[in-house]
Amino acid sequence: MSKIDCYIIKDLLPLYVDEVVSTQTKNAIEEHILACNDCQKELNILKKEINTAHLPSEFAKGGEPIMKIRKHIHRNYCIIAIMIISILFIGSFCGVSYLRNNVKAIAFNNNIEVNLDNGNIIAEIEGTSIHSSHIVNIPVNGEETEFYTFFFVESSNWDNLISKKSTLSKVTIAYNDKGAENISKIYYYTGEYDDITNMSVDELQLIISNSTLLWQR
Ligand SMILES: [Zn+2]
Repeated sequence: MSKIDCYIIKDLLPLYVDEVVSTQTKNAIEEHILACNDCQKELNILKKEINTAHLPSEFAKGGEPIMKIRKHIHRNYCIIAIMIISILFIGSFCGVSYLRNNVKAIAFNNNIEVNLDNGNIIAEIEGTSIHSSHIVNIPVNGEETEFYTFFFVESSNWDNLISKKSTLSKVTIAYNDKGAENISKIYYYTGEYDDITNMSVDELQLIISNSTLLWQR
């Protein structure tokens, strides 16, 4: 490193004492001071002044400009920190919303089971948490006494992200005393549900052939 003139070092000393110089400058100043008594003395005087500046204000008049610089720098750091935290916060919020709104039907892969529990019909889905479920009851032969139930469940990318293999989600397909006793078969079907309640027997047969029978009474 090249030798630096004393007047440059002396100009930099207040900033050095205030710890607002770069590492390279700091190293250069320290290297110079080790070899230069004159600047060493200047530094000691400055350090004493700075210490005085930390005393109550009537003792501290000499140190005020440095205190102001320090406060100013401190405030700028605070503003930058708040901005970074805000950006991170908004960014993660947008990211999570995006993941939550990205929803897909869960394919059947021996991961879904339907069981009776105290008269309630419950579906258990392994390996993911559930965003939503779609359940439709269709009367068999037009009679309101027997129903086939078609359902599917959806998960969002967020659900997939937070789920573990051991995650077990439960969805109530039908409640005891609210129609569960009239359901004779439960199918898992991930296709179109829009016209499913108005379908002919043949059309419904096609849906059934594309479904997985999960439970029957
Ligand atoms: Zn010097």
